[in-house]
Parts: sequence; structure tokens; C-alpha cells
Amino acid sequence: MFDALMISRADGVVTTRLEQVDPMTLPEGDVTVEIDHSSLNYKDALAITRGAPVVRHFPMIPGIDLAGRVIHSDDPVHCPGDRVLATGWGLGERHWGGLARMARLSGRWLLPQPTGLSARQAMGIGTAGLTAMLCVMSLEEGGLTPASGPIIVNGGGGGVGGMAIMLLAQLGYQVAAVTGRPQLHAYLTSLGAMEVLPRDTLSPTGKALETARWAGGIDVVGGETLATMCASIQYGGTVAACGLAGGLALPMTVAPFILRGVRLQGIDSVMCPRPRRMTAWARLARDIDPTRLESMLHDAPLSDAIAIAPRILAGHIRGRTVITIN
Ligand code: NDP
Repeated sequence: MFDALMISRADGVVTTRLEQVDPMTLPEGDVTVEIDHSSLNYKDALAITRGAPVVRHFPMIPGIDLAGRVIHSDDPVHCPGDRVLATGWGLGERHWGGLARMARLSGRWLLPQPTGLSARQAMGIGTAGLTAMLCVMSLEEGGLTPASGPIIVNGGGGGVGGMAIMLLAQLGYQVAAVTGRPQLHAYLTSLGAMEVLPRDTLSPTGKALETARWAGGIDVVGGETLATMCASIQYGGTVAACGLAGGLALPMTVAPFILRGVRLQGIDSVMCPRPRRMTAWARLARDIDPTRLESMLHDAPLSDAIAIAPRILAGHIRGRTVITIN
């Protein structure tokens, strides 16, 4: 038997508990992994507290990220003893995920633990860091360089935003961090932000175009915030949009696209193809400053995950939560 968070639904009521699970009930897959670290993302917090819409069927072990050691493999790519990680691919949504001691999954979803990163650091980075790197890569593919001008990043106190600030600063960009928590000013500066701005910097004014202040942007919020960000981008700039912490709708005009040639690039980490993930993880292992990463991390045991989840949704958690599975 192994420890796992288990989300169940009975009579329409969703409950999440720490349970002992029989390995015989693990889902189909060609590789079995003994997990030692996972993490808590916004999506995990939604799954643990509300179930739907993240969880596609019940019972479900949540956890979109996992890192551990292969203990059985029918996939020639992975051998027992190999250190591996997985993020996305429906883990914790359609397939039992990483907030457990064991997982059985497709070998195609596993990547080798990147050289130079511990399992704890890899999960500290997790889906948030992968997503931030995919955002940075899309800005680069849009032609941006540090010489292009400043980049605006919102949700700075959270996982994706913090990782994006850290990565961009490390690459030499001037970063303006947007946060709803002024008390995080020193923290955001320590991650590399040159400027820390309040959330209302991206409040709508009703104009189709705002003053063109930013060469590019990374948005985790969506809604009016993303619309205002697009309207504030300089000629030929790029915005990478990955989140919906503030809403799913996008109330805006086409003016930034047809009058300033602004590019809006959507980012998805879940189904991101394996070669692009490999590139992103290699860059994460190379570009992340371990001291700054450490300042973003806090550790918690699996038994604390249920209590932390609502605090993530309420925006009370800073940086990234690494779950240690003993
Ligand atoms: P976190 O909870 O770690 O961070 C979200 C941050 O967004 C908060 O800390 C807060 O930052 C800010 N925020 C929250 N609510 C609002 C709001 N109503 N208006 C403005 N800002 C707000 O989440 P993650 O970093 O893990 O994820 C961020 C978003 O990105 C989520 O929507 C998530 O679903 C999405 N995501 C998408 C992925 C993809 O593949 N497309 C992958 C990973 C995440 P502050 O207090 O500093 O303002």
C-alpha cells in the first residue's frame, strides 16, 4: 500500500483525503515510478478544492508534476533506477498524478531528470517553470532580445510569474513585475525585477490602444488584464498568454494587432511536444540561478497539501510549493 491524495465524488460532493492505495489499482502504463517530490500548482489547488473542471473522472490522484525513480519499466527508454520527471500530459486530470508515493504512466511522458538539477529543484521549477520558459522562448521567437526594451510580467508573486521574472532577468532583460501584493516588492526585486508595479497598471481604460510601454509581456491572468497588456505593447512586440487567474474572457479590439503588429502567442505546457520540452528543460537547468530559485521555494509534506490548496487559490502563497513524499 502507498500514500496518495485521493479525490472522490459521491452524491455530487467532492472530497480529497490522504489515503492508503493498493498498487494493484494503479492505472495502465508501461513505467512505474517511486515518487519522492511533487509540487502544488494553481491547477492542483483547483483539483484538490473543487475537483471539476480539472478532474475528468473520479477517483483521481491529483498532481500535474512528479519526480522520482523508475522501479519497473516495459519501455526500453527507461530502466529501473533511472531518475525521471513528468509534467502535464493529463496527469492529475485524466490519469492518476504525482501527489502520491507511486505512479504508473506512459514512458513517453517521462523525461530524464535534467543534469545539474536535484529532484527537489526540478519540482520547484515544475509546470510553472516549464511554462515560464515556454513563454520566454515564444518572446524570443517573436524576435525580442534584451535590447528590444522592457518586458512586463504579471502574477509576480505566483509560480509562473516569479519563474518568468527570474528567467528574463537572468537573460539580461529589463523586467517590470506586476503584483497585487505590494509587500512582495523586495522579493520581486531579488528575483530580478527592475520595477514593481501595482495591478491597476493593467486595469482597462476603455481605449483600444494604450501608451506603448513594453517590448513584450507574459500574462498569467487573462481577461481585461491581458487585453490591457496587449494594448500597451510597442510596435512589433509579443505577448505570451498562459493563464486565467483573472478570467477566461478576452474583451479587446484588434487594434494592437493591426495597428502595431503585436503578436499574441498562446502557451500550453500540458500537451507541449517532447522535443520542445527537452529544449525548455535543458535551458531551465542552464539558465536558472539556484540561489534565486531557492528563494522562491518552500517545502511541505503530502499531508499538508489539502490545507495549502485553498491558500493558493486565494493568492496567499508566494512562489512555489514543493511537496516532499516520504
Ligand atoms: P499561482 O497561484 O502560483 O500564481 C498566480 C498569481 O496570479 C497570484 O500569485 C497573483 O499574483 C496573481 N493573481 C491571482 N488572481 C489574480 C487576479 N484576479 N487578478 C490579477 N492577478 C491575479 O499560479 P501559477 O503561477 O501556478 O499559475 C498562474 C496561471 O497560469 C493560472 O491561471 C494557471 O492555471 C495558469 N497556468 C497555465 C499553464 C499552461 O500550460 N497554459 C501552466 C501553468 C499555469 P500577485 O499576488 O503577485 O498579483
